[in-house]
Amino acid sequence: MVSLSLPGIIDAHVHLRDPGATHKEDAYSGTVAALAGGIIGVLDMPNNTPPTVDRRTFLQKREILKRKAVSDYGLFLGYDGRSIAPLLELSGQAVGLKLYLDETFGDLTTEEPESLASAFEAWPGPGPIAVHVEDAAQPPESDSIDVALTLAHRYDQPLHVCHVPHPDDLLRIERARQQGVRVTCEVTPHHLFLSTNDLPRLGAYGQMKPPLISPADVARFWQRLDLVDIIATDHAPHTRAEKESTDPPPGVPGLETMLPLLLRAVDEERLTLERMLELTYHNPLQIYGLRPPEDSGVEVEMGARYRLPAGGYQTRCGWSPFAGQWAMGRVLRVRLRGQVVWEEGRVLVQPGYGRALARG
Ligand SMILES: [Zn+2]
Repeated sequence: MVSLSLPGIIDAHVHLRDPGATHKEDAYSGTVAALAGGIIGVLDMPNNTPPTVDRRTFLQKREILKRKAVSDYGLFLGYDGRSIAPLLELSGQAVGLKLYLDETFGDLTTEEPESLASAFEAWPGPGPIAVHVEDAAQPPESDSIDVALTLAHRYDQPLHVCHVPHPDDLLRIERARQQGVRVTCEVTPHHLFLSTNDLPRLGAYGQMKPPLISPADVARFWQRLDLVDIIATDHAPHTRAEKESTDPPPGVPGLETMLPLLLRAVDEERLTLERMLELTYHNPLQIYGLRPPEDSGVEVEMGARYRLPAGGYQTRCGWSPFAGQWAMGRVLRVRLRGQVVWEEGRVLVQPGYGRALARG
């Protein structure tokens, strides 16, 4: 059997749900799922309960990761529109500042233009400002991507647009780049491998923010992948019971399925292996200014194509919206800082082996 050696994946967008919703996932189960998916480092978002927006909540979360993580990690700082002080005090310890310009899961939305502007003005870096924006239902001038691009331009802040909602937005981001805005962007596997065609079958299991797009728009994302900097999972687990409730929360898991889906796309020659590693390893490290963990890598067994299973995942939520999709490659072994941490479906290190990714 042919095996493939990769440097490992850095997933720049995950929600490990710890603290606040550990029945969905916690820092241990989430980082085990990461290793199972060939991911050696995850960047965790701040919309926890309580949100990671000040010294107390940031240090509490860092302590949780330090105790439980088995992959490496970085933490985003959030901003709740109240105090600027934590942005100044904690910026060097966070991988970046995450701003929610549109409502999503959790209660951390900053829509007021003034507090948004003050965050863009105050953020001292070195990480970028990462934004959650939804597609424009309104005229372009009131749309949140434009708001973010304008503020990044005005305050000369590096901006990262998370999970770009629609291929048209890629073109707007590209125009902003041409005007000198320092902006990078990411797309998710669910916007590349699922579409609105899957919604009748998936129901609430296909609901996330931003929502799935049409097959034609998915094809346009693939055509303009040259404008994309990062592919990140936006791993956002919810239990089956929650998804089957009358008010299902948005979000899908993705840590264990991104690499095999992308390797299938490589096999189909929709992107090269080199480009896949740019999007999932080199660029995330570079954009967030992080150093790759030394002596680390992932060995993938490349056999025949197979269909992703409906169960048997490490993520606590236990399901995948990609079940049934064709995939390539199985993660055989993961080495992290000189140690084999994952082999043949088992974690080989204790909770707490994972470390904060160092600044490059
Ligand atoms: Zn997210």
